[in-house]
Amino acid sequence: MAHPSSEDLPVDKVRDLIRAVCEPLGRQRTREMIALETSLGRILAEDILSPIDIPSANNSAMDGYAFNGSVLSGHETISLEVAHTIFAGHTEKCVIASGTCARIMTGAPLPDGCDTVIPQELVKVDNQFIRFQCDLVRPGDNVRLRGEELSTGQLALAQGQMLSPAHLGLLAGLGIAQVSVYQKVSVGFFSTGSELRSLGETLDSGSAYDSNRYTLMGMLTRLGVQTHDFGIVRDDPKELREVFHKALKTCDVIITSGGVSVGQADYTKQIMQEFGSIDFWKVAMRPGRPMAFGHLKAAEDEALLFGLPGNPVAVMVTFYQFVQEALHLLGGGQSLEPLLVNAVLAEPIRKRAGRTEYQRGICQRLANGQLEVRTTGSQGSGMLSSMVAANCLIVLDHEQESLNVGDTVPVQLFNGLI
Ligand code: AMP
Ligand code: MG
Repeated sequence: MAHPSSEDLPVDKVRDLIRAVCEPLGRQRTREMIALETSLGRILAEDILSPIDIPSANNSAMDGYAFNGSVLSGHETISLEVAHTIFAGHTEKCVIASGTCARIMTGAPLPDGCDTVIPQELVKVDNQFIRFQCDLVRPGDNVRLRGEELSTGQLALAQGQMLSPAHLGLLAGLGIAQVSVYQKVSVGFFSTGSELRSLGETLDSGSAYDSNRYTLMGMLTRLGVQTHDFGIVRDDPKELREVFHKALKTCDVIITSGGVSVGQADYTKQIMQEFGSIDFWKVAMRPGRPMAFGHLKAAEDEALLFGLPGNPVAVMVTFYQFVQEALHLLGGGQSLEPLLVNAVLAEPIRKRAGRTEYQRGICQRLANGQLEVRTTGSQGSGMLSSMVAANCLIVLDHEQESLNVGDTVPVQLFNGLI
């Protein structure tokens, strides 16, 4: 494993460089109108202003009795005649005369002249009358006011928002059946390396099955992009040129794995350079030090390239740290700051300043409510079993040095990240 050097690019710098390219491209992305029921996971291409008031009328937040709150003042207890019953969906007007109230159900419209609801469990019912203590309720209690969640013309959802189940429900609540979203990003991917074998082939000595295409396919599918699998490409200039030509025809983005290490003798880097302006970075991180990024072009066809390292864990870590956000931005989404939480180390970790490390961790909540984290053991960047065993990445910042048991470290939970 190479040591960090001062010329390596810090992770934050790499994130900034990628954002600066992807954000403007995302803003130019083509839009399409789609039905709300097919919009889960898509990115909103317009601000949604509320076309109506939510709720559409003052209504009761409880099953109880509606009355005018002014009657409460100056009394210890009060008795009111139940003059009406109002169910949800009730549309007839009713007038609440002084000294009376209305039995009302949750969500039912508040009658004119009423501004307060007392929950049914706080009253004593005696024939047509209710009696209750006045200090159990204040004027205005248990009422939802017209437009209190959203009023007509107010911003309900902002452009660039990825639509989750809650967003779908909110849009439906506004009566919106069609939404404008950005077209899905089309992502092609392939593995490079003459030592790689496809599933079903026999392994000869020194060869290995291609696992990166499967992790990539999984991660891309979860992101909701359009995927194109271009298979394994051997370390052969002709094969590499062919696949780049083919992928450029249909894809906005091409993701490769392998062949981008510094000093690597194979053709991957050379052929990438033939197709465009590509930077080969040494990122100050572990795993994932070598990475390529840039624009590819062949005649009219253009795409962005992410040349990820070959090691299987490095592929996943660089994807989650850089590519995931980049694809989201390219698709018109807003930038995603990863949510880190603090956990207490259950074991010491050795680390030198000068690179960001992403150790695979197992995080658990202790009986005292504290989050505790330990590593999964061996942290080899080729060992996918460390990702399988983990439920989080322990993020050791660029300047961080060795840590002891009991020290606090930031972790990125897979749940939510992936
Ligand atoms: P490279 O950067 O191409 O030298 O690859 C680094 C290491 O990752 C080598 O041990 C490769 O065999 C391994 N590797 C590269 N691509 C894959 C892949 N698609 N699946 C599994 N291992 C890979
Ligand atoms: Mg290789």
